[in-house]
Amino acid sequence: QAIPEAGWHFDNSYATLPETFFTRLNPTPVRSPKLVIFNRPLAAALGLQADALDGEAGAEVFAGNRIPPGAKPIAQAYAGHQFGQFTMLGDGRALLMGEHITPQGERFDLQWKGSGRTPYSRRGDGRAALGPMLREYIISEAMHGLGIPTTRSLAVVTTGETVIREDDLPGAVLMRVASSHLRVGTFQYAAQWGSDEELRALADYTLQRHFPQAAEQDNRYLALLEEVIRRQAELIAKWQLVGFVHGVMNTDNMSICGETIDYGPCAFMDTYDPATVFSSIDYQGRYAYGNQPQIAVWNLARFAEALLPLVDENQAKAVQVAQDALSRFGELYYRNWLAGMRAKLGLFGEEADDVALMEELLNLLQKHRADYTNTFLALTFDQQRDEALFAAPEFAAWQEKWQARQKRHAPSDDAVRQRMKASNPALIPRNHRVEAALEAAVQEGDYSVLERLVAALVDPYAHSPEQAEYATLPPDSCGPYRTYCGT
Ligand code: AMP
Ligand code: MG
Ligand code: MG
Repeated sequence: QAIPEAGWHFDNSYATLPETFFTRLNPTPVRSPKLVIFNRPLAAALGLQADALDGEAGAEVFAGNRIPPGAKPIAQAYAGHQFGQFTMLGDGRALLMGEHITPQGERFDLQWKGSGRTPYSRRGDGRAALGPMLREYIISEAMHGLGIPTTRSLAVVTTGETVIREDDLPGAVLMRVASSHLRVGTFQYAAQWGSDEELRALADYTLQRHFPQAAEQDNRYLALLEEVIRRQAELIAKWQLVGFVHGVMNTDNMSICGETIDYGPCAFMDTYDPATVFSSIDYQGRYAYGNQPQIAVWNLARFAEALLPLVDENQAKAVQVAQDALSRFGELYYRNWLAGMRAKLGLFGEEADDVALMEELLNLLQKHRADYTNTFLALTFDQQRDEALFAAPEFAAWQEKWQARQKRHAPSDDAVRQRMKASNPALIPRNHRVEAALEAAVQEGDYSVLERLVAALVDPYAHSPEQAEYATLPPDSCGPYRTYCGT
């Protein structure tokens, strides 16, 4: 049978790096691949023919049973600090299919996740369970809808095989799309075990692929550090503004190009509380919502350390300039967050007291255990009722100040409303709705709940009538939400 053309266009630049960075390897075929969810709009955006892939042919490719023409699969080597501990890691259950070039000339990694054992699997089985792969699909697509840089999900296939965890679970493979899979941990790997030449090759490759302008600077390696710091400051501010808790900000899960990557134990915060943690293994709250900016700096410091040999021959000088660069993260982050929070509150212009106004509101949210997303939604549509927060006299006092501040620079009431609608999502992927979608899919084979949820999340700023039901909070009986990684 002829391989359908499907629009593949591979150019595998990563494999031009020194061999220490990867191992050539094909996926382990699975017993009976079945395409259960396929992102047709994403396929189209990549220049792939959705019709050619939406069925058995796609299932074969997305499961790793068939390698599309031009693809040269590799497992990528990397290291990382996991909860502060440095370890050798690498693609233990993932493989890079290759880099696909879109008709517009953009380059994207296509990666199988759950495609079998690799030299980096350690004791793992190289496989993934259906539930977590669908969960990554939902949340990564939700992040994209929210306007947050992220890896994306092209498809999930079931394998017809069982993976053994605490229970036996149905196996699956996720097809992930990323601007690249270069991580802080890739640089740590090179710095720890590679030669200076290998480290330099990695840095030059990264500059060329993601930061061509920085590559022109006098000190391009310092420019690389500065650019990565800048992108992370933008990214983490966006997470904070929507209440996203990544949950496992290990250095191997921090992408160099500034995309959110690795949707294991992540979840969105309901009740506003900086101490929010969902991950069952984050006992110390290292990756709590309120810690994310600090952790980003910690990770970026590990990135800076890895780059030191390239930054300056004089290592004391290298340390100095790297520290200067790192010290600017705080301000960059804060500037992004402030701009985003002004938009959420419908504020035009800038006033010195804006920060106090924001902090006062957030303190009130925490005190009255208010829902983060829905509070901003209520403010947007002027629907402050019922909640303890809105009944509090101190809220009324805050609201008066806020409205006076709004009026001082706003071009019109309508402009305020538009700004708030564009900055406050009608919905986030609420944990109980995600769980309901996964349960229907995994237990009953009913994907309609998941499909409706994903459709509602495509444009969370549309504020359409169909989105309203997804703003409903979980019943009290749900109890605290827990997430798990590595399944
Ligand atoms: P993560 O917690 O997803 O960032 O993964 C940490 C490391 O564990 C990475 O090197 C993964 O490739 C590896 N890993 C996770 N699950 C498995 C598995 N089932 N089999 C082999 N390696 C795995
Ligand atoms: Mg990871
Ligand atoms: Mg993971």
